[in-house]
Amino acid sequence: MSERKMRVLSIGAHPDDADTSAGGLLTKLKRKGWEIRLLSVTDGSAGTYRKEIGGQELKLMRRAEAARSGARLDARYDVLDHPDGRLEVTLEIREELIRYIRRFKPDLIITNRLNDYHADHRNTAQLVQDASFLLTVPCICADTPYMEHMPVVLYWHDSFKKPYPCQGDVIVPIDDTLEDIVQHASCHECQYFDWMYWPDNTELIDWPREQQIARLRDRFDRLFARFRREYDAEVRAKFGDEADNIKHVEVYEISEYGEEPSQEFLDILEK
Ligand SMILES: [Zn+2]
Repeated sequence: MSERKMRVLSIGAHPDDADTSAGGLLTKLKRKGWEIRLLSVTDGSAGTYRKEIGGQELKLMRRAEAARSGARLDARYDVLDHPDGRLEVTLEIREELIRYIRRFKPDLIITNRLNDYHADHRNTAQLVQDASFLLTVPCICADTPYMEHMPVVLYWHDSFKKPYPCQGDVIVPIDDTLEDIVQHASCHECQYFDWMYWPDNTELIDWPREQQIARLRDRFDRLFARFRREYDAEVRAKFGDEADNIKHVEVYEISEYGEEPSQEFLDILEK
């Protein structure tokens, strides 16, 4: 009998969050043979300034783009039907997530922290947190078999300082996956090559695609090099002399609501 693959579920609010926010770690886990699943809690239908495509047309576009990015990770990318920009923390969605997570049975969940500028991000984090605690409780959503073990839950990095900055509990060197992150993001054309240029850089919308991708590559290069500098103490504590060879890192915080990861589990993520 073949051994069960380890499973990671990345949950974001919008159809480009789950893959691009953890693109380095997900690529590494794919290379290590993990099964990857991506989930967007909202339909992404509001992510544009073009009112003529917002709604149904954008929703379909974003599902197609998410599927393309998921394919790069050999992953199914599910997009739930909750309207973008209007996500609320409800019992109904919490139980939808409990059932979804239980059916996939992840060893690891990755998601947003609870503090964030976007209400959809905050509410996704709250929903995942509320669902996580109940995954192992048999009488909740009793129609879907409960999980016997809690997964580890990680939060991907954000730059918000209040109430406290993201803790560098897990440091993932990503020098060999930086290009994969660029390619995942490039699948989301309506976001990275249009919506994100609005309203301050709209002249970039007409740039040739290769030039746009080069600009994106430069942006990610600088972002993950900044994380490397900001979390220098954590990188040195974990990697010792090897730290000098590490130029780019992803940073994750461990959620207190998930299983406490063992050192062996952390080694899989970080090495
Ligand atoms: Zn988002």
